[in-house]
Amino acid sequence: MTRETPLRFIIVGASIGGLASAIALRDAGHEVLLLEQESQLGGGDSVPSGGVRLPPNGCKILFDWGLEAEIRSNAVVGSGFTVYKYDGGGKRDYLGTNRWDPELLAEARGLFLQMRHKDLLRILYDTAVKRPSTSKVSVEFGVTVVDADFDACSVTLASGKVYAGDALIGADGAFGYLRRRMNQEQGSPGEDQLRGLAVYSAIVPKEVAMQDDQLQELYQDPQRRMVTFWMGPNRGAQAFLAGKDEDVVFWVYTPDGAQDGTWTQSAEKKITDVLGTCDPVIRRLAELAGPATCVQIKNYLELESWVSRSGKVLLLGEAAHPFPIISLHTYSVALEDGGFLGKMFSHTRNPDRVEEFLSAFQEHRKPRCAHINLSEKSYVEAMALPDGEAQEGRDAAMRANEAAGRNVMDSGDHSEEELSAMWDDMRMVFGYDPADDAEEWWLKWGRLRDAPTALDAKAMRYSYIQDLRA
Ligand SMILES: Cc1cc2nc3c(=O)[nH]c(=O)nc-3n(C[C@H](O)[C@H](O)[C@H](O)COP(=O)(O)OP(=O)(O)OC[C@H]3O[C@@H](n4cnc5c(N)ncnc54)[C@H](O)[C@@H]3O)c2cc1C
Repeated sequence: MTRETPLRFIIVGASIGGLASAIALRDAGHEVLLLEQESQLGGGDSVPSGGVRLPPNGCKILFDWGLEAEIRSNAVVGSGFTVYKYDGGGKRDYLGTNRWDPELLAEARGLFLQMRHKDLLRILYDTAVKRPSTSKVSVEFGVTVVDADFDACSVTLASGKVYAGDALIGADGAFGYLRRRMNQEQGSPGEDQLRGLAVYSAIVPKEVAMQDDQLQELYQDPQRRMVTFWMGPNRGAQAFLAGKDEDVVFWVYTPDGAQDGTWTQSAEKKITDVLGTCDPVIRRLAELAGPATCVQIKNYLELESWVSRSGKVLLLGEAAHPFPIISLHTYSVALEDGGFLGKMFSHTRNPDRVEEFLSAFQEHRKPRCAHINLSEKSYVEAMALPDGEAQEGRDAAMRANEAAGRNVMDSGDHSEEELSAMWDDMRMVFGYDPADDAEEWWLKWGRLRDAPTALDAKAMRYSYIQDLRA
């Protein structure tokens, strides 16, 4: 049944994936209700909000939504990264530098941004809720979804209140209720496995870092636009300046953090207690860091399907494809999910087509997310390699690249074909545009269902011939 009224989407989770979907669906002319368990956006000021790296595929979506000026004023534009040994015998041990290729950035139509989580969340929230539009996004905070009826496309809140819509979107994260329910529906016996590495995340405010002799170097060119990586054995760390205040975002990967925490809980241990032998800059950052969180890196169970059997419920963002914590792409793929969903639903107001559209979403998005997830997992492995041949080989290759004036991550001598395959992969990852991808699906498949049926077409041809004869 086609109707002129917009479709009604219920989205559980008002974080990056939920807000991005709300913006794109609203722009497509639909009604959106967002349900968020936290009483304030991002859990409010009591949550120690950390940092975000956003690659060109995510950046371009925000710019295309008209947010370039606001994003730029809340971001440091990254130019590459430097790599050091994590332990270095307690001293600094530099391995090399990697600079982003301007040709790649131009082709990808985006930048590598360094932001604060809370700033990106606020910008998306304001865009979803406050930007004038003919359609509406409503948000309810402090409401926890405790039950869902996938056939009726409804959710029940802890208060007992029930909301129903034409489609239900689970953007409730890796530990969300809808992800668990979808897993139950699929009868999957698996569960998430701890990887044995936790990530501590904290901020060192600029005014504190600038007072410190060792940390001042982070503010000197070209370092101030570079991410610093410290690599293994068994541990790793990252630091970069983020947001308009240019505070230092600081992450430590450690096997010594046993707490299975979340982004809204404080770390039980001090970062200084989980460092082991390390570069003195890491220790100084840990000593000066503000409140920290401790989140485990997990091997998440893989859902067979992101769409319910009823065809009315879809998972996206971390609820569908959880990435290792602080991966380069967690934010960009959540934004891509929203962009793709909104673009495809710009073509229909027909509730009977929801199932077909949600299935097409999964068919297009799943292989891409799986491909990126695999490479993110390999970066975590490379970051914290144990002592041994693999680690020695990695370090030797980096030092050789640096000595030869090459990017530190270049992987040596390649044939023309290998180089061209690597470039194609980078183009595919960073150059991707979800709106183009969704439009391609529409032109190739989606619109065919809206085309006249064979019978209609025959009738139209007949009346056209009649007209000509008249
Ligand atoms: C408060 C917070 C702070 C974060 N800070 C950082 C950071 O500093 N750096 C970083 O790299 N990553 C951070 N992350 C993780 C990052 O947001 C995600 O990896 C990425 O944004 C994509 O996530 P998502 O939107 O799919 O899901 P998430 O960001 O995990 O959001 C899920 C949302 O669903 C809500 N929710 C869950 N269950 C229910 C329910 N039953 N009813 C209603 N609402 C529900 C949650 O409260 C949350 O807002 C943070 C996540 C959160 C929730």
